[in-house]
Amino acid sequence: MTRKILIIEDTPTIARVQQHIAMKIGYDADIAGSLADAQDLISKNNYYCAVVDFILPDAPNGEAVPCTVGADIPTIVMTGNIDSTTRDTVEKYPIIDYITKENKQAYHYLEKQLQRLPRNENVKVLVVDDSVATRLHICELLRRHKYQILQANNGIEALTMLEATPDIAVIITDNEMPKMNGDELCSEIRRLYSNDEKAIIGISGSDAPYLSARFLKGGANDYLRKPFNNEEFYCRLSQNVDMLEQINTIRLQANTDYLTKLPNRRYFFEEASKSLKQLKKQQSTSAMAMIDIDHFKAINDTYGHDTGDEVLKGLSICFAKHFEQHLVARLGGEEFAIYFADTNKDNAMKQLETFRSFIELHSPEFSKEKIKFTISGGFAQEPVYQIDELLKQADIKLYEAKETGRNKVVA
Ligand code: GH3
Ligand code: MG
Ligand code: MG
Ligand code: MG
Repeated sequence: MTRKILIIEDTPTIARVQQHIAMKIGYDADIAGSLADAQDLISKNNYYCAVVDFILPDAPNGEAVPCTVGADIPTIVMTGNIDSTTRDTVEKYPIIDYITKENKQAYHYLEKQLQRLPRNENVKVLVVDDSVATRLHICELLRRHKYQILQANNGIEALTMLEATPDIAVIITDNEMPKMNGDELCSEIRRLYSNDEKAIIGISGSDAPYLSARFLKGGANDYLRKPFNNEEFYCRLSQNVDMLEQINTIRLQANTDYLTKLPNRRYFFEEASKSLKQLKKQQSTSAMAMIDIDHFKAINDTYGHDTGDEVLKGLSICFAKHFEQHLVARLGGEEFAIYFADTNKDNAMKQLETFRSFIELHSPEFSKEKIKFTISGGFAQEPVYQIDELLKQADIKLYEAKETGRNKVVA
């Protein structure tokens, strides 16, 4: 479903720039040139958020802001300049943010805010505070920015919730609480989860000057003194969510093969090793298959390296689909591996055989030149718990497949 945004702006060029930014991100944007137009559009549509000019011909004192806020539309206010009276007026309203239209940077900032809102819907934030009033205040701030919210009364409750909901990304915690203090909670979270998994923001009303350092040394990413300013709260929170997101992107890149977008050798080894440790405890048997394109060098030699790459990409898409339930990777070159954590030999061999014959039939679809090719596979199922040993066994079988005519899977 496309998200609808309402842009209330009387200068057409600015409205068009904002519309362009919103549409680039994927919003469906309506423009209202006046408060009257806006009221009309609001009565007929459901808006995900709004960008509101503070001064309009029929709303010279920011009257459009209570109009969108009153309709429960998350609102970003754009102002020509922000003197202290305007700021005070704007800050009274429960808005997402205000931006001064003084330079190009303002539009980059708007773009960032509009990108964050849909993203925040997938970010879980746990608010830990024994004061119901403070908790509700923080939750209201989070709700406005569309975060998913969880609440805990104290540190012990927070730890239970973290265990039950592993994808909580940010923990905002008060310090003075019964049962377990915020700084103790912080240390306990850091014992269990690393900095690149979860961000912690400590909050306290205490004047004690050492408290911020204690929080940070205990593993908190940030600290806020109560009472805090909403703007500062949002800035610190977004920065921490951005940081987690960037780490995730880097991690994904480090684990992905650049050409085929399949998991790479490094990720494969890490994940399979973890699983093998588990299987060893249960004394279960694991299985591994290696797949290699037949006479791939000839494809490169005849059609060029780029066409070879196309073939690799096409094969990888089918490969990932056929073995969705299992751990797959491009080990390197035209060599792929499948790790079966929990399967019997007959099932695995059936799947491999299906894949082999699918490629034999459909390989021409992977390239413009309609190149037909085949694959060979080796399968090993052994009570061994070292990944390289298991791969070696599968490789021996692959060699056998190559030696005895290719286009086959040998177990
Ligand atoms: P066999 O049936 O015995 O496996 O023969 P083969 O030609 O497939 O095997 P060989 O190991 O002799 O050649 C593999 C070729 O794969 C050589 C190498 O240039 C090519 N290759 C490796 N990585 C890439 C890649 O990323 N892109 C392309 N286009 N070619 C690659
Ligand atoms: Mg308290
Ligand atoms: Mg080959
Ligand atoms: Mg090879």
